[in-house]
Formats: sequence, C-alpha cells, structure tokens
Amino acid sequence: MAAGGLFGRLFGRRKPSALEILQSAKWKCASCDIEHHGMFDIGSRAPDHWGKAEELEPNGALRTDGDFLSEDFCVIGGEHFFVRCVFDIPVHGMAEKFGYGVWSTLSRENFDRYVNGFDDGKYSDMGPWWGWFSNNLKGFPETINQGCWVHPQLGRQRPVISLDDEGHELARAQQDSISPERLLELYAEYGHAPDVS
Ligand SMILES: [Zn+2]
Repeated sequence: MAAGGLFGRLFGRRKPSALEILQSAKWKCASCDIEHHGMFDIGSRAPDHWGKAEELEPNGALRTDGDFLSEDFCVIGGEHFFVRCVFDIPVHGMAEKFGYGVWSTLSRENFDRYVNGFDDGKYSDMGPWWGWFSNNLKGFPETINQGCWVHPQLGRQRPVISLDDEGHELARAQQDSISPERLLELYAEYGHAPDVS
C-alpha cells in the first residue's frame, strides 16, 4: 500500500510525455502567449516567393493580372499561380494527422480549374495536378521548388499535397509517420515549445 502511494505520487509529478501533450486539451507554451490545444497545424500565409507584406485579400477578389494573395490563392506578376494546400503527416498514437499549410504552383489551366470548382468543392478533373512546392519548412531539408502533386479534395477541403521525390525526408515523414517527440521538435522550430517546468 505504501509503495502504491509512492508510485502514485511519482507518477503524478512526472513530466507529461510528448503524446500526452499532443492529446491534452490545452498546454502552456514557453515562448508565446497562446494557449495551445493539443495538436495544431502550422501554416504559411504565402508562398516563399511572395516576398512582401502578407496582407490577405478576400478569395472573391481574385485578380490574375498582377500580384494577388488571399487565404487560398496567390498570383505573382500575372504569370505564376499558387494554391494553398495541406501537407499532412501522421503522428504515432494520434487519430488525426498533423498538417502543414503550404503552397504549390499550378499550371494556369489547373489553377483555373481549381478556382472554378472552389465554391462548390467539385472539380472537372480530380487530378492529381503537377506543381512546384513553394515553401521551405523548418526542421526539414529544403523543399522549395521540389516537384509535387496536388490532390484536389471534394467538399471544400484544401487540396492535399505529396512530394514527387519519395526519398525526401518530408515525403518519408508522410509515408512512415513521425513520433510525437519529433512533432514537438518541429513546433519548437516554429517557436512553440511546451513549458513543462
Ligand atoms: Zn506557442
């Protein structure tokens, strides 16, 4: 009985595991004021090529003749077309996948297809569509301008993206899953580390 009580006290005081943090309703961040809720996605508001203030216009204001940036569409110089996608990575022990909000180029033809189907979440061609990955991600080897596949999703979900080079570390993370500890490392790269002191 005494031993059980001792173990109980030790267990109660031990630091939570990475998985427990990702499954917790909320956790305190050592570096930002936001209270995080379990696992969350990390998003890039623009392709890395954008290179200026990331002020978003409404999707409905889309212009294709100059520079344009909204939550889901980006045009640079009237000739480079980008869409916001999700690169998802399964995490051991988690029911949901972790998602990076990232951008890919599309051909003008596929960009128009995506825009035309966007409101209904139905597309004349379900791809996958070829593109060039348009962000670097912290904690992984360079991904910008890697060839990739954009898989449009029905029902107004963002397109899912996969890398063409299956040997790239990021592609392997998507295929093989990552550990909860690795995801916390990635969060730390983006300035979010659990305060477990
Ligand atoms: Zn944080």
